Amino acid sequence: MAITSRVYLDNAATTPVHAEVIDEITSVMREYYGNPSSIYTEGQKSKELLERSRDIVASSINAEGREIFFTASGTESDNWAIKGAALRYFGQKMHIITSRIEHHAVLHTCESLAKLGYDITYLPVDEDGIVSPEALAAAIRPDTAIVSIMMANNEIGTIQPIKELASVCREKKVLFHTDAVQAAGSLPIDIIDLGVDMLSLSGHKFGAPKGIGALYIRKGVRINNFMDGGGQERNRRAGTENLPYIAGFAKAITISMADLQIKADKLTQLRNELIEKVMNTIPHTRLNGSYEHRLPGNANFSFEFIEGESLLLMLDHMGFACSSGSACTSGSLDPSHVLLSIGLPHEIAHGSLRVSIGTSLTSEIIDQFVVSLEQIVMRLRQMSPLYEDFIKNKTTPIIPCTKCYKEQIMKEV
Ligand code: PLP
Repeated sequence: MAITSRVYLDNAATTPVHAEVIDEITSVMREYYGNPSSIYTEGQKSKELLERSRDIVASSINAEGREIFFTASGTESDNWAIKGAALRYFGQKMHIITSRIEHHAVLHTCESLAKLGYDITYLPVDEDGIVSPEALAAAIRPDTAIVSIMMANNEIGTIQPIKELASVCREKKVLFHTDAVQAAGSLPIDIIDLGVDMLSLSGHKFGAPKGIGALYIRKGVRINNFMDGGGQERNRRAGTENLPYIAGFAKAITISMADLQIKADKLTQLRNELIEKVMNTIPHTRLNGSYEHRLPGNANFSFEFIEGESLLLMLDHMGFACSSGSACTSGSLDPSHVLLSIGLPHEIAHGSLRVSIGTSLTSEIIDQFVVSLEQIVMRLRQMSPLYEDFIKNKTTPIIPCTKCYKEQIMKEV
């Protein structure tokens, strides 16, 4: 059943830009062309908008304006926080702690620091994808420069106990950074309550365009500058500010933080409906990640006996845009490091699907999606030699049949 219009179910990869944000950006482009570093009127007008935008972003996470630094992406914010802290203590503190399920913006940053001689500890996660504060406490050493643990995972949506993890670091006087790129716009963020030293944000995950991010650096935290050049961002991140996108970022964060709880409740209800319908319709299906500590808009499934890439292409053909993992890794044949870290075997990790919903989803669309998904999964299974072996009772499935659909399947094959 092909649907008549496209259904976008990949909001974790990126979100559509809000109409109000587009209006804001275009009006800033027209009216605020002055360089914020210029001392004449046009420049000062831009400077004033820059600082106003900074204050808006700061207040949305309970920070102060001077603690917000605009960057070009979530990736840049992660790089800056980790490299800036590590390189500040080069030769003295050569140990970094992170988790096995971080985004590549963090993992590859750590790998590049390892080449400079840093020792990296990758904390394991439990089967829901949660990092244990006790394991973190045990891993901290006198030479630990920084700990970086994400607030919410981009693939399986698991939300970490950031407050507890940050408190372990504070007690041991180690800097704590969190990548809140997926959390912002979905979860309330209060940096005082969380007790973090640094926090990364990316605009395109909550209705701003791609290519604008921010790093919160708690006042008093000393890290190296990331970009050398002019004196922008209080001498800490050089480069003429992208004012239209900064103003758009401030507008988008304001919109996404307004009625956050109402939106989160709606998303949670729709997501649970989707999970229930998928799990009840398609046998040998697994929900990956925590049911309880999960981003409101995230569902991540593994379907045994099939391959995620084919599933994605067929869903696309039927009008649905989903993902098999993070956008950065799709196209690669390696199974997701996140799914392997929560203990999935390779063959199950390969058959996974991430569905990240928005508030425009309805029960009717969920029904259409589940019908299409079931058809595709059945078609792919019928082409799978592994499935044939299972049907002929030669193998036992890895994912148990939650409801006994086997008789029904055998009739159909
Ligand atoms: N961190 C997480 C958890 C993400 O999901 C992403 C993007 O998918 C990033 C960092 C990178 O952000 P950006 O796309 O702004 O570079």
